[in-house]
Amino acid sequence: IGLLVQPVRVLSRVVSTIQQGAASADRVFEILDEANEVPLTEHPVVHSPMKGHVSFENVDFRYNDSKHVLNGISFEIKPGEKVAIVGPTGAGKSTIADLVMRFYDPQGGAVKVDGIDLRDLELKSYRRQIGVVPQDPVLMKGTLAYNIGYGCRGMTKASLERAAKMAGIYDFIMTLPRGFDTEVGERGVTLSGGQRQRVAIARAVVRDPRILIMDEATSSLDALVEQQVQEAMHNAMEGRTSIVIAHRLSTIRDADRILVLRDGKIAEAGTHDELVAAGGHYYRLFAASNGEHTEVG
Ligand code: ADP
Repeated sequence: IGLLVQPVRVLSRVVSTIQQGAASADRVFEILDEANEVPLTEHPVVHSPMKGHVSFENVDFRYNDSKHVLNGISFEIKPGEKVAIVGPTGAGKSTIADLVMRFYDPQGGAVKVDGIDLRDLELKSYRRQIGVVPQDPVLMKGTLAYNIGYGCRGMTKASLERAAKMAGIYDFIMTLPRGFDTEVGERGVTLSGGQRQRVAIARAVVRDPRILIMDEATSSLDALVEQQVQEAMHNAMEGRTSIVIAHRLSTIRDADRILVLRDGKIAEAGTHDELVAAGGHYYRLFAASNGEHTEVG
């Protein structure tokens, strides 16, 4: 398992481990492996390359003995479609992302890709076809090449370059005397928030995944940096099934479809214009309030 695919919430544990000064790669991988608790199938299907058609069919989900987080949710995302998920904190947005990566199995219904139940798929080859951009990207001790490409066997220089270009960080890397071999962190170059985001985007697309999951940052970068990061996200999503846990109106407007999550259900779905015209939750709480950095409640 690489950091290319990581449950959205496990990351905060990784971050705090690093803050406690234990940023060794071994420990991070250990934490990530702990998160991998789903039962493995005896004769899993290797499905690669996949098309990236994601469907949730009547999905019920709760954590352990907690109340239902998702209540009979159904939706479909066609290959290449960009979907933004919005909803108040605790609505289940990250849970949906974690179910797509199969960090958990639903108690009812099924999550499928290209019509195949995730429980029947060979997990490693499936996850290898998913890229994830977390909200607060974690950089590891090591070079930029390592940070963009680690977890990937047989990574070529060309793929690193292509990913860095797509994420809009290539030109910056080329200004560094050691280029991709520059160390990040204390002993090397210090990256700004926007640059860290771009490295994370490059990392997510380096294997050319069919599905891209992004948890958009909520903290405000300055306006220009933010616009640049959004442009990089936009490039990264091109031609991939994309699921964005969205917090910014511009990202949401850009989506082919918006799912408004509320009380464990999809309260509304449609494009920005359709949802504004419908005059429901979305209209009241997002469009009408001019939405920037606002959670839809
Ligand atoms: P969102 O991403 O929309 O903020 P989440 O998917 O993170 O929502 O959480 C949905 C609900 O599930 C919340 O009530 C949250 O407290 C709960 N929850 C999330 N993760 C866990 C967990 N690992 N164990 C128990 N409850 C959890």
